Amino acid sequence: MKPKTINIDGQDIPFTPGQTIMEAATAADIYIPHLCHNPDFKPHGSCKLCTVQVNGRSCSACTMPAAEGQQILSNTRELNDARRSLTQMLFVEGNHFCPGCEKSGDCQLQAVGYYVGMLGTHFPHFFPSRNVDASHPDVMLDLDRCILCELCVRASRDVDGKQVFGIAGRGMQSHLVVNADSGRLADTAIAATDKAAHVCPVGAILVKRTAWRHPIGERLYDRESIAEVALEQDQAEAGGRHG
Ligand code: SF4
Repeated sequence: MKPKTINIDGQDIPFTPGQTIMEAATAADIYIPHLCHNPDFKPHGSCKLCTVQVNGRSCSACTMPAAEGQQILSNTRELNDARRSLTQMLFVEGNHFCPGCEKSGDCQLQAVGYYVGMLGTHFPHFFPSRNVDASHPDVMLDLDRCILCELCVRASRDVDGKQVFGIAGRGMQSHLVVNADSGRLADTAIAATDKAAHVCPVGAILVKRTAWRHPIGERLYDRESIAEVALEQDQAEAGGRHG
């Protein structure tokens, strides 16, 4: 039987029913930029970087099911400009000082910034006042760097079974919270081996005593672009799930 196909930027690619546009694109070696998406978890659709045009309408590729005959635009100037603006907004909304960050070179936000051709932040910086929680012996939390992707919330709840993290507030007031009366990581059950301690795409959650392992030139995104890394990792994880 002829495989069902969608068309992305003029290229017909096959999909299996139940796959999202992101999953079909990844399987076909097409990178769609994303930050809150991680194939280990249910799609979230919050960062909006993976916004594509499907038959003329804007959709998140990570949540939109693939369907026969969809005409999808992803790698267009308009969409890439929007992705650059969204990335710039993430940079100005927090306090991201790449040269001094332990995650520099391994950070998805920084790598996406390079990928979308971001040369500056463009918008005025908010310079919010946020806390660093170094109370736990093995895991630290720097809220300056949080982009509210909720991956740690999902990982702690769905994989670790601990619910260490949550989101409080709405809209501009949304922020990550630690589920302890004190609000401190030291008073939670988080461990350095937890999925939640390793899933953060930026340097907001770090395992202590693991920073600066790789010199400049040998860090993850020094060696490969985020497009190459994301396709390799997402394909491997999808293969692991279905294999
Ligand atoms: Fe996402 Fe990291 Fe913030 Fe958690 S701490 S919401 S994983 S950016």
